[in-house]
Amino acid sequence: MSGSNHGGHPHRSNRRLRKPRGEGRSSDGGGRGGRGRGRGGDSPHPTGGGQGYVTSGRAEPIPADLPATNFATFGLAPPLEAAIAAVGYVDPSPIQAAMIPLVLNEKNVVGQAQTGTGKTAAFLIPLLGLLDHVEDEEIVARGEPAGPVRILIVAPTRELAIQIAKEADKLTRFVPVRTVCCYGGTPIDQQLRALKDSTVVVGTPGRLLDLIGRGQLKLDQLDAIVLDEVDRMYDLGFREDVDRIMEAGRARQQTVLTSATLNSDVEDLIGKHVGEHERVIIETNSLTVESIDQTFYFVDPRRKQDLLLAVIDKLKPAKGIVFVRTRFSVDRLTHHLQQRGVAAELIHSGLPQRKREQILELFREGRFPLLIATDVAARGLDIDDITHVVNYDIPNHADDYVHRVGRTARMGKEGAAVTLVTQDDGPFLTQIEKLINKEIRQEAFPGFEVDKPIPREERVQAREAERPPGLPPWATVRRRRR
Ligand code: AMP
Repeated sequence: MSGSNHGGHPHRSNRRLRKPRGEGRSSDGGGRGGRGRGRGGDSPHPTGGGQGYVTSGRAEPIPADLPATNFATFGLAPPLEAAIAAVGYVDPSPIQAAMIPLVLNEKNVVGQAQTGTGKTAAFLIPLLGLLDHVEDEEIVARGEPAGPVRILIVAPTRELAIQIAKEADKLTRFVPVRTVCCYGGTPIDQQLRALKDSTVVVGTPGRLLDLIGRGQLKLDQLDAIVLDEVDRMYDLGFREDVDRIMEAGRARQQTVLTSATLNSDVEDLIGKHVGEHERVIIETNSLTVESIDQTFYFVDPRRKQDLLLAVIDKLKPAKGIVFVRTRFSVDRLTHHLQQRGVAAELIHSGLPQRKREQILELFREGRFPLLIATDVAARGLDIDDITHVVNYDIPNHADDYVHRVGRTARMGKEGAAVTLVTQDDGPFLTQIEKLINKEIRQEAFPGFEVDKPIPREERVQAREAERPPGLPPWATVRRRRR
């Protein structure tokens, strides 16, 4: 790696001045060059699987033969730069190039970017870079993790929280920084134990508030709060929780906020909690990346399942996600596909957390090609090499479209997004096109053309077929958005 560039450090003085902590800290800004003399050796940062996610926090020695990276220009401490090289990042992505220097200069930053742009590392690298742990020789030499909590990252879903914790784990490989990931649905004991010597805490709003309320998560020495995918948090009904977490934090902590869309709700939150800040906006004109080939098929609602089978047969996705509106439809559609010999598995929030994690892991490993999912379950998934996204049901909220298709074509790779659109879906399609500021290309699938409007009774019948059994005919099936 290209490690040893920098002499002076432009970024750190303020942070050091305003931190009152004493023990084991050097205040001279030196300590550079401390190679990880931690214990390392055993598997670096094991995780707890279904038990939650806690990293070991022990520092590993830095190998001698790491490749050079173009992250050297940021003047990061050697153990952090080494970790970036070890992960295999060579060039900063656009959001990283824009955000890293701002965050290193301790600015509050609002980043408009979707997943797949490298936004996680865009806030993690500089925030970790500001920790003493990465430069202070004594701390690095001790090699053992220690509290207090200095960085708190709030994420809308468990899956996203785990992704962030994994990224933090990779980036802290050569420094004694422990990350604990706190989310509901798993035993709390391990998280409680780990909180004692964790520097980085990632979690979902409910569990974090719970821990703050019990006095187990103390924020009095916090340097920074990250609110990741804030628009998602609002969609999921976490508005008040986010307010309460921000109020529990330290008054002068640094705040980084990311959101795929900056709607008026998000702007309100920024006004209320972030204060003076810099903005980084990636892809303003087109929210969906250019390298995603986006098409839609107009379809008779009664023939959606058949068309999906035909589309799968045509595209032969190596790793595809099919988005479906409700858990009930996910179950039904997956069963239908499996019966027709398609190797598909399902994921939705009705499955136990452990099962969801297992399925994701198998999908990530490429053990089956097709995942049938609801929005909530698939939110924030960081799975490499998604080749196809199919919107079996068009999303009723344009933002969801951006999030769904953002699963593919990550970090400059190619991807395709196909949407099935019925007669009734027209307004949703228009909203989506307005939001992404781009026309989605219509294609005709031979044998599935719809040339005349479908009579109303048939549309009603088709909708009835989507209804979970046991519901009275007058009950409408609504997507739950708290
Ligand atoms: P994110 O937008 O944070 O969800 O990141 C998307 C994916 O890009 C993740 O798999 C990251 O590991 C990867 N990634 C992040 N930064 C870089 C980089 N500079 N070079 C290559 N891959 C990256």
